[in-house]
Amino acid sequence: MATKTIFEKSIKTRKGYTLPKCEIDNNISEIFPNDILRKDPPRVPEVSELDTVRHYIEISDKNHFIEKGFYPLGSCTMKYNPKINDIVNVITGFTDIHPMQPEDTIQGALQVMYELQQDLAEISGMSAVSLQPVAGAHGEFTGVNIIYNYHKNKGQHRTKIIMPDSSHGTNPATSALHGMEVIEIKSNEDGKVDTEVLKDVLSDDVAGFMLTNPNTLGVFETNIQEIAKLVHSVGGLMYMDGANLNAMLGYIRPGDMGFDIVHFNLHKTFSTPHGGGGPGGGGIGVSEKLVDYLPVPVVKKKNDVYYLDYDAKYSIGKVHSYFGNFLVMLRAYIYLKMLGDKGLKRVAENAVINSNYLMAKLLSEYPVPYQKNIMHEFVACGKKFKEYGVRTLDIAKRLLDYGFHAPTIYFPLIVHEALMIEPTETESKETLDTFAEVMLKIAQEAKENPELLKEAPQNTPATRLDETNAIRNLDIKYNFEA
Ligand SMILES: *Cc1c(COP(=O)(O)O)cnc(C)c1O
Repeated sequence: MATKTIFEKSIKTRKGYTLPKCEIDNNISEIFPNDILRKDPPRVPEVSELDTVRHYIEISDKNHFIEKGFYPLGSCTMKYNPKINDIVNVITGFTDIHPMQPEDTIQGALQVMYELQQDLAEISGMSAVSLQPVAGAHGEFTGVNIIYNYHKNKGQHRTKIIMPDSSHGTNPATSALHGMEVIEIKSNEDGKVDTEVLKDVLSDDVAGFMLTNPNTLGVFETNIQEIAKLVHSVGGLMYMDGANLNAMLGYIRPGDMGFDIVHFNLHKTFSTPHGGGGPGGGGIGVSEKLVDYLPVPVVKKKNDVYYLDYDAKYSIGKVHSYFGNFLVMLRAYIYLKMLGDKGLKRVAENAVINSNYLMAKLLSEYPVPYQKNIMHEFVACGKKFKEYGVRTLDIAKRLLDYGFHAPTIYFPLIVHEALMIEPTETESKETLDTFAEVMLKIAQEAKENPELLKEAPQNTPATRLDETNAIRNLDIKYNFEA
């Protein structure tokens, strides 16, 4: 049965609240000028308090969320975020402070930021960290800006950024925003950077090389030190897209691999709910030679007092109002403090073992073209189902009928009919087993009853949508007149 809107549940004269009698005797039109008074009564639904609560409880689980079920959306790291984060996030000592308060009244908040900077620098092997960018893409944007200004400061106009064909769309986008020319190189048969191809495009107008490690295929770039050496030999800088940091926490560090800049997706790796695009954190870490280029302010500490330092010599300036998304930082801080060194390593271990376990369970029906050195996620290929008229999109939609969120589909572009699956470290073996069973069942359905998949989903509040039309003719408003 379709859910009624709260207006459809409205019954004339039904009340949620009874207000005390108004104590002002005057007619309201004697107090306020007539032209600001409303002509018609407000259109509000007339419902009881209980009906209102039931209404919102009913609609609250129409969508998918991590507390409701498995969410293997590759690249996005939809891990479970411990509730302690949210409990600390509503402490008024944090929520009621204002960014323009004097520093001596916000020492606690500055300490959180300072220690988070230190922890992220240690985790990444970088010299200094700025927490200002508010998304991974924003971190990239900041990083490319720093790369450009670093060269400019040395009197060089470098305009080329190299990246592999597996890279995330934000990589070329943020480079192009800075007027960089993007040079895409083809990955080798293992899904990794082909160092011979890289050598061919290196020249002294290369500003930098952008790489995700593990890359978007979930594959670890084993030649990373050689790659860094090659890029550095022509004076270019190494940028690491750190969206996949989950896979290496506590084991290996971008700084030790030769990267000069890395961004952190605090909302992915360090635990902030982000389905639907809530506030994020995209801080960056840089190597010694780039410390003076970081956005200002950076939080520093002197004689046990925390302060905001605006003095970086070549700073690119500010990239966000005030200091970034503080409450996302607070969540990351709590997450790190609660896990500690050992806990962080367990995150990486479980993320990698979960992914490899699930891949092994699915391989009989879902081949993975690049499976050497698979880390925390893998990309399966659904091409073989085309012979039954079934596409990856249909498989993804059918998964919704079984109560799972779909994996990322059609990315990365170098795998046909891609299904990008990231189980994350927070899922149990039992959940992975159930998901694998359903995936294998769907493979069977695709062969025997392809219509079932093409008409999916059927068990969700909305069935198959025309996504193009939905975007072009957005209509989300309730029609009051109907
Ligand atoms: C998510 C992601 C990004 C972009 O991060 P946002 O925080 O969504 O802006 C960049 N690269 C990769 C590989 C990602 O998975």
